Amino acid sequence: MKVAVFSTKYYEKEYLDKYNEDSIHQLTYFDTPLNIDSIDLTKGFDAVSLMLTGNIDEAVINKLSENKIRLIDLRSAGYDNVDISAAIKHNIKVMRVPAYSPQAIAEHAVALILTLNRKTNIAYNRIRENDFTINNLMGFNLFEKTVGVVGTGKIGRAFCTIMLGFGCKVIAYDIKQSDAMIKKGVVYKTFDKLLTLSDIISIHCPLTDDTHHLFNSLAFDKIKVGAMLINTSRGAVINTADAMDALKKEQLGYLGIDVYEGEKALFSKDLSNSNIQDDIIERLMSFNNVLITPHQAFFTIEAVEQIAMTTIKNFTDFEQGVLNGNEVTS
Ligand code: NAD
Repeated sequence: MKVAVFSTKYYEKEYLDKYNEDSIHQLTYFDTPLNIDSIDLTKGFDAVSLMLTGNIDEAVINKLSENKIRLIDLRSAGYDNVDISAAIKHNIKVMRVPAYSPQAIAEHAVALILTLNRKTNIAYNRIRENDFTINNLMGFNLFEKTVGVVGTGKIGRAFCTIMLGFGCKVIAYDIKQSDAMIKKGVVYKTFDKLLTLSDIISIHCPLTDDTHHLFNSLAFDKIKVGAMLINTSRGAVINTADAMDALKKEQLGYLGIDVYEGEKALFSKDLSNSNIQDDIIERLMSFNNVLITPHQAFFTIEAVEQIAMTTIKNFTDFEQGVLNGNEVTS
């Protein structure tokens, strides 16, 4: 199958080529994202492969249909940038990579917790300035602290298991409880109870109408004074302006985020020669109890390899008419 691979990153090509054994598919790599301006690049291909960049709305889908594209393959789990009903209307199949190494994201959430708590980022910079003091570097033991987990799906469960290993008390809130987690000692609570009891809260639910700005001023008013909030799910689960107010009031003690509501304008871009136009993130970066990473939680060798392997399998299964469960149908 002839596939136009959009938004290709340097680190993906090696693995895509590795799993495209005997060059069974003809892959053409483009750095650019697919959007209405780059649509002509799809002429002559059977399929397009995309990351979660570019808005694949009805206008783009109409053009893809005109160009005889039969498959939109996403190299991500999320598909909120694709107009699925428009794709179905044009008989274009949409496939994705529903799961890839949940441990990668869970372990990154733990990295954010440990860095914020033990301030290794501050110590690293201090030592480079020949300052070997430990002033203001005091942290707290994780052992026996209460960790609240919002969403105990694949990533949330991996995260719970790690935190149980630290000797934490793990409580959770989810619309669907996991028996496996209950057996391991996780105790489910209401969302409000989780807010009031947790020393650390980690978000692992998807972004939906129900979870949009779930963490707003009302929620921040209920958290333990000085609690830590970690978000590796989707930026808009937190109302960032409200989080900033809670930090200013010292109600929120620490904030660690790998995702941000306004990330589309910033993440994956080198803006070192630009003035950042986003005042909220600029202000957040000025707090020393805030740690921001650029949506890198997934970024491990194992996860990138898994994404590439499933992507190639999606091409092959689509071509052979095999339904493999990775199809997006609604
Ligand atoms: P999953 O579908 O396995 O689990 C999601 C869990 O959230 C489920 O248990 C579900 O019942 C629960 N949930 C749904 N709505 C809820 C609500 N209103 N309140 C509480 N819980 C609710 O998904 P996953 O693979 O564990 O991924 C979780 C999220 O992580 C994804 O939606 C994605 O946004 C994010 N993610 C981030 C990265 C990254 O690099 N930062 C990478 C992959 C995924």
